[in-house]
Amino acid sequence: MAEVIIKNVWKIYGETVEAVKNLNLDIKDGEFVSLLGPSGCGKSSTLRMVAGLEEITKGELYIGDRLVNDLEPGKRDVAMVFENYALLPHMTAYDNIAFPLTLEKADKSEIDQKVREISKLLDMDDMLNELAASLGGGERQRVGIGRALIRPSSVLLMDEPISHLDAALRSKTRGELARLQKALGVTTLYVTHDQLEALAMSDRIAVMNFGILQQFGTPDELYNHPCNLFVANFIGEPPMNLIPCTLQRNDEQVRLLKENGGFGLVLDPADTKCVTPQFRDGDVLLGARPLDITLVDSDSKNCIAARVVNFEPGCEHSIIEADVAGVDVLVQCSPDIHLSEGDAIHLDLLSRRFHLFDAHSEKSVLANYTTVREQ
Ligand code: ADP
Ligand code: MG
Repeated sequence: MAEVIIKNVWKIYGETVEAVKNLNLDIKDGEFVSLLGPSGCGKSSTLRMVAGLEEITKGELYIGDRLVNDLEPGKRDVAMVFENYALLPHMTAYDNIAFPLTLEKADKSEIDQKVREISKLLDMDDMLNELAASLGGGERQRVGIGRALIRPSSVLLMDEPISHLDAALRSKTRGELARLQKALGVTTLYVTHDQLEALAMSDRIAVMNFGILQQFGTPDELYNHPCNLFVANFIGEPPMNLIPCTLQRNDEQVRLLKENGGFGLVLDPADTKCVTPQFRDGDVLLGARPLDITLVDSDSKNCIAARVVNFEPGCEHSIIEADVAGVDVLVQCSPDIHLSEGDAIHLDLLSRRFHLFDAHSEKSVLANYTTVREQ
């Protein structure tokens, strides 16, 4: 097992395609880290550089305490599961799993013992004699993982290994994969564009966009303390509501104002302390997730008047689509509440968790949010 350190790493294809820009990640021994981001943001390029399948244009890559920039893939002590599994179709599942050991001309009884161990671990005893070509997507994926695991390695790399599975199988498999990774304790770098997958499986997630690392943190940190608008938008379903308004300070009070029939809110003292002191005033986006907005009475402090645009009843929770000063806002509410289009309602966006982003830099202006607000 080993830690993986990615230090100031760049991948530039040809002269101009900057796929990965100055990436820094410090992945601990045994940690499960996901690279998350939209298509084309540089996830696979990063993974392939760690695997040694792609040259590192600039920067340093350490596995354990070895600088591996110039080490060929076979000597890096990494195993990789690809998106398309890359199985040999006319060989059985057994022979596919055994393949890395067969190549090394390992002893037959040793191979057999290892295949049986892996097969038990991945619950695939009854498919070992099937030809790879005849297996379904979920089964092929397990064979691919089995083959990657048969030779112990320090680092396991997976590139969207379950993206081809249907929704039910995907959710089952992601649980199995996460359990397996913990049982093996192998340092894992996992590529996905699916935020739910990353949130469910990872110790930490590195969110990337246009080749640039946006935030690296635990699922809780990314969900509750997104550092910028991109992360706020990318994590969470339904997405965070964002309402443009103006932040003003008078004395030590911070207000959020929306003109022309909008609202005027005053932050309470604890929240005021969280607003970055350097941010004096200016355009901001007030962010609140649908489940952090509450329905309140019209005389409630800091409430915002809104009108129901659409109401979607549900058994676990209902969804209100509301017009808040011209902005469409989704609110998740209790199934006991019944509303109709056109109803006047009042919303509280501040008493649970909220977010503030500088409209120009798109960065969060809530510094110390974790430390101050949650004490
Ligand atoms: P992701 O895995 O996040 O979808 P990739 O790492 O595959 O992203 O790609 C990042 C960027 O690099 C994209 O703009 C892609 O078109 C480009 N790219 C990837 N591989 C190559 C290549 N071999 N040659 C040129 N450009 C490439
Ligand atoms: Mg990719």
